[in-house]
Amino acid sequence: MPVPRIVIVGAGFAGYGVARRLERKLRPGQAQIKLISPAGYSLYQPLLPEVAAGVLDPRSIAGPLHRLLRRTQLVPGTACGVDLDARVCEVELIDGKRVPVHYDRLVLAPGSVTRTFAIPGLKEHGHGMKNLAEAVYLRDHVIAQLELAAVAHDPAERAARLGFLVVGGGYSGVETAANLQLLTAKAMGRFPRLDPDLLNWTLVDMAPQLLPELGERLGEVALDKLRRRGVDIRLRTSVSRINPDSVELTDGRTLPTRTVVWTAGVVPSPVIATLDLPTERGRLVVGADLGLSGRPEVFALGDAAAVPDLVAGDGALCPPTAQHATRQARVAAHNVVASLRGTALRRYRHHDLGMVVDLGSDEAVARPLGVNLSGVTAQVVTRAYHLLTVPGMRAKARVAGDWSLHALAGDDLIRLGFLDTRTGSQADLEHSADTEPVDRSPHSAVSDPSAVGKDSKTKSDKSVTSGKS
Ligand SMILES: Cc1cc2nc3c(=O)[nH]c(=O)nc-3n(C[C@H](O)[C@H](O)[C@H](O)COP(=O)(O)OP(=O)(O)OC[C@H]3O[C@@H](n4cnc5c(N)ncnc54)[C@H](O)[C@@H]3O)c2cc1C
Repeated sequence: MPVPRIVIVGAGFAGYGVARRLERKLRPGQAQIKLISPAGYSLYQPLLPEVAAGVLDPRSIAGPLHRLLRRTQLVPGTACGVDLDARVCEVELIDGKRVPVHYDRLVLAPGSVTRTFAIPGLKEHGHGMKNLAEAVYLRDHVIAQLELAAVAHDPAERAARLGFLVVGGGYSGVETAANLQLLTAKAMGRFPRLDPDLLNWTLVDMAPQLLPELGERLGEVALDKLRRRGVDIRLRTSVSRINPDSVELTDGRTLPTRTVVWTAGVVPSPVIATLDLPTERGRLVVGADLGLSGRPEVFALGDAAAVPDLVAGDGALCPPTAQHATRQARVAAHNVVASLRGTALRRYRHHDLGMVVDLGSDEAVARPLGVNLSGVTAQVVTRAYHLLTVPGMRAKARVAGDWSLHALAGDDLIRLGFLDTRTGSQADLEHSADTEPVDRSPHSAVSDPSAVGKDSKTKSDKSVTSGKS
């Protein structure tokens, strides 16, 4: 009998987790496992802001797939479409060549990309915080602004170079603003020509509070801590236009800045829209067993899938978090094997363990198991959580080492100088296949971490052509 072919799309928390578990559950010869991934690593995204801030080395949060997976064959490329009837996934390899990858079981875990809107200038000047290239680029860019401000004679140019704007008050935006503001505030001491009062960090969000994932009280605590550091936080405010050296806000103000970091939510990887299957807020609709209705050989999970949250009930969906993606991977791996053996499938059910948000230095806010923590205690919990969950012993050792070294020696402010002649915008640096995100209008029903689960309207998104080969 031919060996079943299991194909996994995406090597993030979900996809890597499934591959790792399948290797444990299936003996060599029981199945062939292929993992389609544009990168050779599984990225630990929650620590990206610390890479941007220079606290962590980029390699410390990149789990090496060739080392972590022993029997899984890597397909270095991007899935650009699936012919569900023929059971073929079409892959664009990293050299641009297109190849078919046949499967008997398909696991879709391509995660999400930054959600963007049709705001003038966003595509050209907005920087993302969703992958390693963006984090490393942003660090270079921020240090370059300080260096250039120090040699600028024009006060307007200096103000724009020392003005920084973060859009998005979720964990990603708050951690990015908090960590990078600390980096620049400390770095000012190395630029004696610059007046520290000129440094200007602003964070805007359309929501009425920061960090809705952590509840009102911790949102207030984070807001208070950031304001004390001098971050200007404007709620119920967004961006209406981004110019090369300024940004126009919806409250009518114009800020001088050459740095806009865009972290206003996520939408599923564009490959999901090519499938022409029912989606909810752009995420692929699956059952609690992570299976696709009418396609028992296909499973989907993680940020890209609309997984019912059985604990919250009432039609809610699991929020797009690493915590859910990691745990869904266990169920998906079990169910792939069960579907091969003809045994019972499991349903995904997980009590949220809470969330941790690093505010840089020794500050954080965290809500483990419903307990509100802030300050040093929260930072200890936050770092312990990351050390436990970052994959592989080498990564744990690297992360712990980086934290210690940074605490002892501070930042060396090295600017690598790569991409100096390009803008390094989100459009430049995010893998988004060759399709646009599902819907870029501000009124779309696509997902964002704070909104998922509140609206259970299902839509079949047919706005993007099918990628069937
Ligand atoms: C800055 C930041 C901080 C965060 N902090 C937290 C936190 O504190 N706690 C928490 O729980 N969550 C956090 N998250 C969210 C968390 O990282 C995501 O929910 C999680 O990564 C989702 O896992 P995933 O496997 O579904 O997707 P991902 O981890 O995004 O992995 C998807 C992978 O698939 C690849 N891919 C995409 N399209 C294709 C394709 N067509 N073909 C092949 N491969 C493809 C991508 O390159 C990627 O490697 C944070 C996210 C960010 C950006």
